[in-house]
Amino acid sequence: MGMTAYHLWAAEGHLERGRREQVFIMETSDDKLERRLYSHDLAPLPKEMDVIFKTMPDQVVRPGYAQEVAQMVVKANATMKPIVPRGAGTWGLGGSVPVKGGYVLDMTAMNKVLALDEKNLSVTVQPGITWKALADILDSKGYFLPCYPSSAPSATLGGWIGTGGTGIGAYKYGSAGDLIRDMEIVLPTGIMIHTGDKHVSSNGGGPNLNWLFVGSEGTYGIVTEVTFSILPKPEELRPVAYSFDDLSKFSPALKKLVRSGVTPMHIMFGDRLHFEYLRAIGKHAPDVGCMITCTLTGSKASVDLEEKTLDEIMAAAGGKKEPKETAEHEWDERSYEFRVREMGAGAIPGEILVPIENFEKVLKETAELTKSMKLKAPVIGTVADNNTVMLMPYYLTDEHNFLRSTAAMGFGKKLGDIAFENGGRPVGLGIFFAGNLAKYRGKNGANLIRGIKDLIDPNGIMNPGKMVETGTRWGISMPAFMMNFGMNMMAGMKRLMPRDKIGEKELSELKKH
Ligand SMILES: Cc1cc2nc3c(=O)[nH]c(=O)nc-3n(C[C@H](O)[C@H](O)[C@H](O)COP(=O)(O)OP(=O)(O)OC[C@H]3O[C@@H](n4cnc5c(N)ncnc54)[C@H](O)[C@@H]3O)c2cc1C
Repeated sequence: MGMTAYHLWAAEGHLERGRREQVFIMETSDDKLERRLYSHDLAPLPKEMDVIFKTMPDQVVRPGYAQEVAQMVVKANATMKPIVPRGAGTWGLGGSVPVKGGYVLDMTAMNKVLALDEKNLSVTVQPGITWKALADILDSKGYFLPCYPSSAPSATLGGWIGTGGTGIGAYKYGSAGDLIRDMEIVLPTGIMIHTGDKHVSSNGGGPNLNWLFVGSEGTYGIVTEVTFSILPKPEELRPVAYSFDDLSKFSPALKKLVRSGVTPMHIMFGDRLHFEYLRAIGKHAPDVGCMITCTLTGSKASVDLEEKTLDEIMAAAGGKKEPKETAEHEWDERSYEFRVREMGAGAIPGEILVPIENFEKVLKETAELTKSMKLKAPVIGTVADNNTVMLMPYYLTDEHNFLRSTAAMGFGKKLGDIAFENGGRPVGLGIFFAGNLAKYRGKNGANLIRGIKDLIDPNGIMNPGKMVETGTRWGISMPAFMMNFGMNMMAGMKRLMPRDKIGEKELSELKKH
């Protein structure tokens, strides 16, 4: 990246008083290779899609300070070019990918811990720090990060707040949105605001502004600082694991567990095929029908008590307790669910939230879907709260085979349909599922969300073409029905294609041994 010095040139009132004459250094790059690297996220789009989207940014910018972010936002308004905040690009729905070029703001250089407030149990950080880096720093000081995504080794705070996802620790402590006390945000006009209060965890006056930005996918503003609640490290953190013949057998136990008063910080599971794939690539994985790992935290006495109750619940439903070492191994592997990519194939996950009540039914319908689409899709997931389960079936595909990988994208659409039919929903909107907004919030709710976007981003420069619409390089957005029709066509095409062979050789070798 080349170094460019910019003078702050924000309009009167747009930046904090007293800082307007300061000079900062930020990195920018016009290099074609670098711009190409920023033209996709975890799920690369085939280059044929260039007809619809201009994913290649005009410039990649790496700011170090909030004032530089504000300066770039003002510049985007002046030039009427889109500006797209990006963390680590680990989300697969295109949130950090431009649809009509412009500036991509790589936030990963803003990765400092600004303050650890031990009196008020909070930490204030820049948004580009990864969840794991923050967890490690806190751990070394005797503190504990209550919640983080399983992609913690690479995902940034800003990125996960942008997606509003659920993650490790959410079952007991709440998700990122629940734990944010305050954020500094650069709005699409370049104005900077604070959304909450660093010292108290809930704001009792008027709507909670923290939540306005959680899950707004970088379309409402750019997070430049976050104050997050933390906890002292618990005396005990103990994973315990149970296996069942298959995942549907876990369902009755789960229904009891969420009513039992036992509150693991995290509940995660994987089915037989998931562990078979892992063993097929030479990883240490259990030979079980499915496995559920619950991680308990608290004092030793309370964890002992919770473990005993859990043992009873699981045994009554036919679950077998796995050895301590297996549970600890699963916990250590919590951030590496997609090791199967080592096979040399792309692993594309679908992600849905469904009521626990319909867990078994959704599992059955998902199995029928994967069969009809000639896919093999292991199911992994977590329990998000005492009513909701997050299912993440993933399939292997050859990302370089345009027809196959595009057609298989229809799987995400069909999986989302199953979720809607069962009282749940797919996770995230991004570019491809923006047409679902009205399904999530109703027509009037969706219009309010669009209205807020228009109000705070009058020039439409902040990450356009996501969440509220599927934008295109031509400046017109794709109607929801057309996007859904296209995705249904892809699913239909996949059904007509011969079965995918990826991973089959490895699985049959495994079965021989
Ligand atoms: C192995 C794996 C495991 C995963 N596990 C989970 C999980 O447990 N839970 C879960 O919810 N998701 C999970 N994900 C999805 C993804 O990792 C998360 O959504 C992640 O937190 C995104 O962070 P990121 O830094 O990569 O963001 P990006 O992908 O770069 O961006 C995500 C969105 O946030 C916006 N954004 C980025 N930075 C900012 C900022 N500073 N201000 C405003 N907007 C911003 C972007 O514009 C984009 O819309 C997983 C993904 C993988 C690959």
